[in-house]
Amino acid sequence: MSDRLIGMRYWALFAAKLLAAAAPLYGLLVLLASLFPPKPKDAPDNWALANSSQALLCNLALLGWFLLCTGVMYLIVWDQRHRCRVCLRRLRMPVETGSWSHMLQLGRPRIEYICPYGHGTLRQEEIQILGLEAPQWDQTADLWEDLCAASKDSEGGSKGAL
Ligand SMILES: [Zn+2]
Repeated sequence: MSDRLIGMRYWALFAAKLLAAAAPLYGLLVLLASLFPPKPKDAPDNWALANSSQALLCNLALLGWFLLCTGVMYLIVWDQRHRCRVCLRRLRMPVETGSWSHMLQLGRPRIEYICPYGHGTLRQEEIQILGLEAPQWDQTADLWEDLCAASKDSEGGSKGAL
């Protein structure tokens, strides 16, 4: 599969998740709108003041709806960041690397995730000092290939020795 097609699949999943979340959220908004009656045509000027408790409830409901939308959006972006760019599976095996006290030797503390099928690594800074830093994705041809080759070599080597 070409890189372009792989990238398209990744963003298609993001769009699909957004659409899947937007439909029920919009339905909830319609439901909320039906709970609060609109202002009648022949209402006096102080109609909003006279119905202030209802206006307050309506505003609180809209605030809650907005917060729910923000939370869902956050979860969608978080989930998208922790997915493999190639096979779209969730990244696994978080490993903490680096150290503040040995920064010159080991680098800054960060968390590394890998795709279980060896498509790449995601490096995320532990502390976002310079604002929100995008995690770094390194794509490898096959992460496990080198490891398997190394273990085959050692097997072959030990057999040869016997
Ligand atoms: Zn993968």
